[in-house]
Amino acid sequence: MILTDLPEHNLKRFGEYPFLYFNGQALSNRYLLDTANRMAAGLQAQGVKPGDRVIVCMANSPEVFIAYQAVMRAGAIVLPVMHVLHPKEIRFIASASEACAIITSASVLPNVQQAVEGLAVQPLLLVAGLDAANAGLVSERTMDLQTLVELAPELVQKPDLQPDDTAVILFTSGTTGQPKGVMLTHRNLYSNAAAAAALAEQSGEPAGVTLGVLPLAHIYGFTTANTLFLRGGTIVVLAKFSVPEVCQAIQEHRIRRFSAVPAMIQALMADPATDNYDLSSLEIVGSGSAPMPVALIAAVKQRFGVDVYEGYGLSEAAPTVSAHRTGESLKPGSVGRAFPGVELRIADEVGQPLPVGEIGELLVRGENITPGYYQNEAATRAAIQDGWLHTGDVGRLDEDGYLYIVDRKKDLILRGGFNIYPRDLEELIIAHPSVAEVAVVGVPSERMGEEVIAVVVPVPGAMVTEAELLDYCHEHLAKYKTPCGIIFVEALPRSGVGKILKKSLREQIATMAA
Ligand code: ATP
Repeated sequence: MILTDLPEHNLKRFGEYPFLYFNGQALSNRYLLDTANRMAAGLQAQGVKPGDRVIVCMANSPEVFIAYQAVMRAGAIVLPVMHVLHPKEIRFIASASEACAIITSASVLPNVQQAVEGLAVQPLLLVAGLDAANAGLVSERTMDLQTLVELAPELVQKPDLQPDDTAVILFTSGTTGQPKGVMLTHRNLYSNAAAAAALAEQSGEPAGVTLGVLPLAHIYGFTTANTLFLRGGTIVVLAKFSVPEVCQAIQEHRIRRFSAVPAMIQALMADPATDNYDLSSLEIVGSGSAPMPVALIAAVKQRFGVDVYEGYGLSEAAPTVSAHRTGESLKPGSVGRAFPGVELRIADEVGQPLPVGEIGELLVRGENITPGYYQNEAATRAAIQDGWLHTGDVGRLDEDGYLYIVDRKKDLILRGGFNIYPRDLEELIIAHPSVAEVAVVGVPSERMGEEVIAVVVPVPGAMVTEAELLDYCHEHLAKYKTPCGIIFVEALPRSGVGKILKKSLREQIATMAA
């Protein structure tokens, strides 16, 4: 199957019920499909050809789902881009991909216009929500998205798409370096969505209503639609994360599963306003995309009576590699077992398998793995060897096949010849009652090679001191691991999907030291 087959499949199997709710509006499966077809015909009329790259850059909305399908139905490749990116970052992606069009919204348009200024290939800008108020932004290469749909020819010319054609290029957020365009084929994305749908089916979990608050431009949010098409059900789409809106949606739609990232779960836990809502329908919180502290998993259970099912994935794996499965024993701190069709290997420096329990780099193989990075042979060769993707994450497997992510290879700290895994320290420090958030990083040191620094966001109102936290670390950690300093901040730098940007933190600390 290819991704453009999915809406028809869904319509045949599950009929005309709402596909999504947004701002009190319900949109049917039929509407989604018809509008996507018209938008695809409109794109073709504007010269979009098979293989062309089209960026979709706007906040979560029904148009995003429609645009993704429309671009693929025109035979082109979708590039989902977070609307919160800086114009320079959008420019990098538009330039590297030579995108022929950008589908965006009126509020993001000024940034997009700034991003494409002077580019060799000038993309056509297709804008949702253009009206008299922002008419001043219209230029020769700008067109209202609604008008494109209305003026579209009746029929879309069906492209000859094959499972191994690239469907999507996702530029990683660059939390560890320069962004790279991960190419994902229809096969990659379909196989992973089918595995997720099959697991949910086996567990007897009803499709029901799910919450769409993850950014649809991130792989974790992007794939929500695929699983939904396969399983049926309805998604409540929120433009952005906010505690009251999430709680309101759970209460109103009696939502049972909330797929989130740790930063969202942390925000819910920190906000007493959650007590004003009836969240009793909630049974499962899914967590992925960044480490979920074990102390937080326990706190969620205590506060909401809900289990956190942690999974692990990455853009290169479309995305899910492992997950806890409904009904199976939960192992807090683990990211569950391999997804069906996905092989895991914990490897030494030369890629050879290590025995159970030993720590090494995680390699992954399966139909879900990317064929490589867009126009970046060197990066592809470095990441994929003999069909195994080198994830850049360090982990271990236990005797039951449960995977534990120890840390990112690039975040390991080498202090005086010893390897230190920041996550070990983070798990300890976050368990301190005065600590709301923490990130541990290595900073250059002449004497030790690297020194350990903990950057801490205290719980509001807590009067915690550096000496107190250092004593606490000394009490629980070997001396060589103990941080040499604690820096208190109001907030940690985070990516659009809420990941802590350790690269920025290291740069900020270096500037402070200079
Ligand atoms: P870049 O690769 O440029 O840093 P990125 O972080 O945005 O960008 P993604 O594909 O979004 O790339 O994220 C994948 C990474 O997220 C994994 O390699 C891993 O480091 C981390 N990750 C995902 N899930 C978990 C988890 N449950 N626990 C720990 N880390 C996780």
